[in-house]
Amino acid sequence: MTGRGVARNLDIVIAGASLERVPGFLTDERKSGQTPGMTEPAVGEKRILARADFPIFLGALRDLGYRVVGPTVRDGAIVYGPIERVEDLPIGWTERQEAGTYRLDRRSDEALFGYVVGPHSWKKYLFPAHERLWTASREGSRFAMAPELVDGPSFAFLGVRACELASIAIQDRVFARAGDPGYAARRTRTLRIAVQCGQAGGTCFCASMGTGPAVGPSHDLALTEILTPQRHSFLVEVGSVAGARVLATVPLWPATAEDERAVERIVARTAASMGRRMDVSGIRDLLVNNPGHPRWELVGQRCLACTNCTMVCPTCFCQTTEEVPNLSGEKVERWRRWDSCFNSAFSELHGSPIRKSTSSRYRQWMTHKLATWHDQFDSSGCVGCGRCITWCPVGIDITEEVAAIRAAPATPRAAGDRT
Ligand code: SF4
Ligand code: SF4
Repeated sequence: MTGRGVARNLDIVIAGASLERVPGFLTDERKSGQTPGMTEPAVGEKRILARADFPIFLGALRDLGYRVVGPTVRDGAIVYGPIERVEDLPIGWTERQEAGTYRLDRRSDEALFGYVVGPHSWKKYLFPAHERLWTASREGSRFAMAPELVDGPSFAFLGVRACELASIAIQDRVFARAGDPGYAARRTRTLRIAVQCGQAGGTCFCASMGTGPAVGPSHDLALTEILTPQRHSFLVEVGSVAGARVLATVPLWPATAEDERAVERIVARTAASMGRRMDVSGIRDLLVNNPGHPRWELVGQRCLACTNCTMVCPTCFCQTTEEVPNLSGEKVERWRRWDSCFNSAFSELHGSPIRKSTSSRYRQWMTHKLATWHDQFDSSGCVGCGRCITWCPVGIDITEEVAAIRAAPATPRAAGDRT
């Protein structure tokens, strides 16, 4: 996320006191007196990881050369950053989210993943906000081009939500079609450790978009946090050979039928607590057939064109490039950075923007996201994470905008309407 006033006018409050938390009790697996297994499980197997053994799990990731990144508490929000030890996780924290509002709050327990999603998404690692693409250096009367070598760590993404797995799959298709070597290299080196949501946020609607709350199959490991007054453990499902390798040196207990039922109850509870819903039936045609709907004008009057929604959206990929020469003119670099279709200059053709009004830019964003994305990439461009609602400084809500157009649809497109 690149600033642009992301937190402007937003209500960010940290309730509660110290971040210090000590894992103060043993799990019932530990109390049982049984000995955990230490063998590499097969893909598809389910095991139990005790909370007390979570540091061993993190150590196993590091031993295999992964740089672990995941949720941390910083600047009044849960954001993604380095995870060196279990205490870096947002232990005992949750958030409350509504349109234009994000608040951190204390939980009554010591959950490691007891929140939903913050303003960051994993795209900041796979599609960095600012990236050098190549360097050209003068060699006599010509320039030698040197594409940027894509080198970097193998990341283990810890705490990937179901909607975020779906958003990574969407960006995989976008960047594969573009033939982007940097994205492909980073993505190939990434291990995805999903964690099921134990609750939905006030702006979540993944259940409407078919992207959650149950974690889909495209993970390396999927964890479900099982937390009761007597027990704190994780059911771990192995999704790939790479995920299985991580578990080879981690103490694990067998998963029982009751453990699996506990996971089903958690997912059902999350599905029942979605803060928002969106009727997506026929949504492509609904939006494509309503470019002149008066709702676009109304939302354009509220929208600040601040770009927050596109910065926090895990699937948005608007970008621009710029050449940066050095003072002597001997060397020039091409840099890519995130851009946004809410910027007037983004639609410039022959020196003039074709989407002059804010309402036309909002219409472009929402229609692409929910309608023409299907034509381009065979899926919706929205996974229902709710970030664009939470982080919009004026509380514009994409689910409300769809509902308003659905309530009074079908205005014909005006001939030549491009404003
Ligand atoms: S459009 Fe909004 S709800 Fe949909 S994926 Fe992007 S940020 Fe999430
Ligand atoms: S919809 Fe909200 S977040 Fe997006 S550009 Fe407009 S004011 Fe900013």
